[in-house]
Amino acid sequence: MTSAQGSQLMAALRNIVGDCNVVTEPKELQVLGCDWTKIFTVDPLAAVFPGSTEEVSAVMKLCHENRVSVVPSGGRTGLAGGAVAGNKEVVISLKRMTKIEPVDRVGLTVQCEAGVTTQAVQEAASAAGLFFALDLAAKGSSHIGGNIATNAGGLKLIRYGGMREQVLGLEVVLPDGSILDMNSRLRKNNTGYDLKQLFIGCEGTLGIVTRATLRLMAKPRHVQLSCIAVRDFSDITKILTISNMQGATITAFEFFTDVAHGIVLQHAQGARTPFQQRAPFYVILEVEDAAGGVSVMEPLLEKLYEEGVCLDAVIAQNSAQFKELWSLRENITESLSAHGHVRKNDISLPIDMLDAFIRELMDEVAKAPKDIEVVLFGHIGDGNLHINYVGPRSGDKNKFQDAARKVEERIFALLPKYRGSVSAEHGIGLLKKKDLGLSRSEAEINLMRGIKDLLDPAGIMNPGKIFDRK
Ligand SMILES: Cc1cc2nc3c(=O)[nH]c(=O)nc-3n(C[C@H](O)[C@H](O)[C@H](O)COP(=O)(O)OP(=O)(O)OC[C@H]3O[C@@H](n4cnc5c(N)ncnc54)[C@H](O)[C@@H]3O)c2cc1C
Repeated sequence: MTSAQGSQLMAALRNIVGDCNVVTEPKELQVLGCDWTKIFTVDPLAAVFPGSTEEVSAVMKLCHENRVSVVPSGGRTGLAGGAVAGNKEVVISLKRMTKIEPVDRVGLTVQCEAGVTTQAVQEAASAAGLFFALDLAAKGSSHIGGNIATNAGGLKLIRYGGMREQVLGLEVVLPDGSILDMNSRLRKNNTGYDLKQLFIGCEGTLGIVTRATLRLMAKPRHVQLSCIAVRDFSDITKILTISNMQGATITAFEFFTDVAHGIVLQHAQGARTPFQQRAPFYVILEVEDAAGGVSVMEPLLEKLYEEGVCLDAVIAQNSAQFKELWSLRENITESLSAHGHVRKNDISLPIDMLDAFIRELMDEVAKAPKDIEVVLFGHIGDGNLHINYVGPRSGDKNKFQDAARKVEERIFALLPKYRGSVSAEHGIGLLKKKDLGLSRSEAEINLMRGIKDLLDPAGIMNPGKIFDRK
């Protein structure tokens, strides 16, 4: 693009969204063109902040006509490089689109614009006496549009499903600027292909989500939370099995290693261990009380002690302790970032294969360079393991990433025989493009390419994410 063409494009963008809603200042663009990964080249042409679906549509139409690529951007908490603009794209951020309609208490739905944060939807539901089920540590910053585009999983998937299960309807702006209104509030609708599903988890490669109708539910029964100290990884799956067989309604089943725990204690303000003696692993178990407020947690923990799978356990006795125990898990990602250079994985496996996989993983970890610490945690009740490679902050960032990638490749290579996935919830983005073929067949990838070509023949919609075009 010549500089005259560039100036014309900027003038046209300003005309659509207003002068103050177009950013071209390089320092600001470095932030706006990046997500949480911060390891990719960032070089956007501009960032724009449309205030309505019509403005998003006009911006897309303009970019389409000029064959300028765009990168949709939400709260930029993504962990796969999906919202990274590294090749003179226009970043389209929906941060001004934060309207939430009044909650529908009969149908249990809420409609909102895609720039609203996850937490704002949770709060709107709660203020109406209801519950929005998606929950993740990034909720204060992540947008509903980003949650949809990544099909976010989060802390409560074991009970309520991920983002896909929360979406009833969507409005999407397609790459040519046309608006596809699929924003129905229907719970049941078997009228041909359910096209909205294509946009959930597509990482912004097929269109821009501008509005959504989300499913709400009655507030859950009272839940109890415990943190359980565990000797062996295999005891974690035993705890899950015993909880299932006891009929517990599990609302969260998370785990972390003692190394992760130590890093949180070092970096998260006010964090303290609930145990007198540290253990190799910990489980965060949240269960609903039975009808009539009868505690399920206490008899369950007794059973776990009896079966010898629990070294020690604490139950949160009040809301402050509840928050404190949860924060031991929720603060891991941020504490790792404070600790050193990090490379993050989020693999998933069939749950009954976790023990065998962990044994193989540990063999690989033992071969890793000594200055790479491998820190494990995750939504283990969903078979989702976060593997984090952590290197000293004093070391060179790029060298660390290369070395960590080598370990990662060996660990990813273990996945196909378990029919595991290289990404449970963060997505492929730029980070795992080379690894897509470990979890998806050639036939699947070709079909994905065909869908991309159909919806985005000009190839301007978040190009280079998930896969390259042929
Ligand atoms: C501390 C922390 C904890 C986290 N915990 C979890 C977790 O438990 N579970 C989980 O799944 N993830 C987790 N994540 C990752 C991240 O929060 C999720 O992927 C989240 O859904 C991203 O939302 P976002 O608005 O920040 O999206 P962004 O990072 O801005 O973008 C993510 C992707 O969505 C696309 N996109 C954004 N908005 C739109 C839109 N309106 N239309 C179309 N495409 C769009 C972008 O192009 C990009 O490909 C965590 C991240 C952090 C930092």
